[in-house]
Amino acid sequence: MKDIKYNRRNFLHKYLKAGSMLAGAGLLLSYSSLSSVAKQLAQSSSSNQQPPKKAVQPAQKNQCDNLSGVSAEEIEKRKKLAYVTKTPIPDSHCSNCTLYLPPAKDKPCGGCMLFKGPVRPDGYCAYWAPINN
Ligand code: SF4
Repeated sequence: MKDIKYNRRNFLHKYLKAGSMLAGAGLLLSYSSLSSVAKQLAQSSSSNQQPPKKAVQPAQKNQCDNLSGVSAEEIEKRKKLAYVTKTPIPDSHCSNCTLYLPPAKDKPCGGCMLFKGPVRPDGYCAYWAPINN
């Protein structure tokens, strides 16, 4: 009988073995690349963590706007005079109005001759009159 070196059995044995080795190597490579990607993602997510946001505090109210001790009648007078806590006209404000009552020593709020209660120096109303007249 003739010795056939390359018969079907040898061919299948050789190439199936080589194929399984290639498939195993491919699996190993894909596993290692997936695990490195997973590690990178874990590192980036931990380094990108934002510090917890602080609770937003309400804006500090200006004590000159506290009308708790002012009567409803006096508050109504303010409204009728169109008093605002921030002047719309930069050169016209309560602190340069002739009707302004400057604050007492160590007090931030002044007053007005037309109504009772605290008045901001940078406030304004329809009765503003320049201090030099
Ligand atoms: S009259 Fe008007 S502008 Fe003058 S001090 Fe009083 S509130 Fe201010």
